[in-house]
Amino acid sequence: MAAEPSVFNPRVSSHRLDVIPFNRPHVSPNELEYLEEALRGGSTAGDGPFTRRASRLLEERLGGSRALLTTSCTHALEMAALLLGLRPGDEVIMPSFTFVSTANAFALRGATPVFADCRPDTLNLDERLVEDAITPRTRAVVAVHYAGVACEMDEIGAIAERHGLAVVEDNAHGLGGSYRGRPLGSLGRLAAQSFHATKNIQCGEGGALVLNDPDLVARAEVIREKGTDRSRFFRGQVDRYRWIDIGSSYLPSDLLAAQLTAQLESFSAIQERRSAVWNAYHEGLADWAAANEVAQPMVPDDRVHPAHLYYLLLPDLANRQGLIAHLAERGVQAAFHYQPLHTAPAGERYGRTAPGGCPVTEKAADRLVRLPLYADLGASGVSSVIDAVRSYEVA
Ligand SMILES: *Cc1c(COP(=O)(O)O)cnc(C)c1O
Repeated sequence: MAAEPSVFNPRVSSHRLDVIPFNRPHVSPNELEYLEEALRGGSTAGDGPFTRRASRLLEERLGGSRALLTTSCTHALEMAALLLGLRPGDEVIMPSFTFVSTANAFALRGATPVFADCRPDTLNLDERLVEDAITPRTRAVVAVHYAGVACEMDEIGAIAERHGLAVVEDNAHGLGGSYRGRPLGSLGRLAAQSFHATKNIQCGEGGALVLNDPDLVARAEVIREKGTDRSRFFRGQVDRYRWIDIGSSYLPSDLLAAQLTAQLESFSAIQERRSAVWNAYHEGLADWAAANEVAQPMVPDDRVHPAHLYYLLLPDLANRQGLIAHLAERGVQAAFHYQPLHTAPAGERYGRTAPGGCPVTEKAADRLVRLPLYADLGASGVSSVIDAVRSYEVA
């Protein structure tokens, strides 16, 4: 699946050599070698040697949670919905300001996404609105750490505990981030990671389901393997494998795991470069933003973000579109982001909007622009982008 809608200004010609793209997937040093090793080794199906290596690296990064590689974050979210046993009529509270998969995974089970508004500072689910959205049918809350800046997890966790709800983290942006010293992805009962080409660590299409509740691990293995106990069979724990539950094929080829292993080994190097870009934007645009009523991202002191994306909030839609066009003319691909799910055709059909609506989301979605951010952007690319932004006159 394409994880991003077509959000680039068509005026940027891809034939121009001097264009700074919005994203360019990083190739880490061991990638080709590992891909060749996987091909020559002959075990290209799922759960081969590289799947084990990538899973261990991911688990270490998540502080010991169990991680199962999947074919996408979308599929990890679908697995979460299956594992929680969600059924028609059940409700799942989530932000409207998120990618479609956050909602789709639950709608596929017949459950109703309940779209709540976001906080104006972090653009994360506003925890102060969650309790009002709860009904007797509510089963879960999905926390999406936008831009890898953690949601108010202690408050959300306390509400979920009081009402007996599961917390699921959509951690597509957050790998490497932390909240009060704890890694993002380790905080919910379940978490979903993405390794799509647009994410910090990528293998084209890929993901992982993170299990922080040991009681869910055995069934998760079954659901991921077409509803069979094949994982136990491969470990010699049963003498044949059978169909024992519902499930699907959620495991990626070991070729993708080989690429992912190399990427995860380069984690620190990738993150260092991405952070350098993020910090340069933040400093280089601070006075321009302040003078033009443009808001920069807000990162509370008790959390660390993994430099997944850099955004600016322009005063209004006209200026946001104006800046994207201005950057396009200067060969810089900038992009807006999520179109609110509560007003999307399928959001209206399958979901419900929480009391009070989502006015903050609607405003932010109109005002937000994301700047190019990738590990190989380089210092001159960064200063070109900063110069191009600064030459825009806010009307
Ligand atoms: C990218 C993304 C997804 C989907 O990831 P895939 O791996 O492409 O399925 C889900 N949620 C959020 C918040 C994302 O940014």
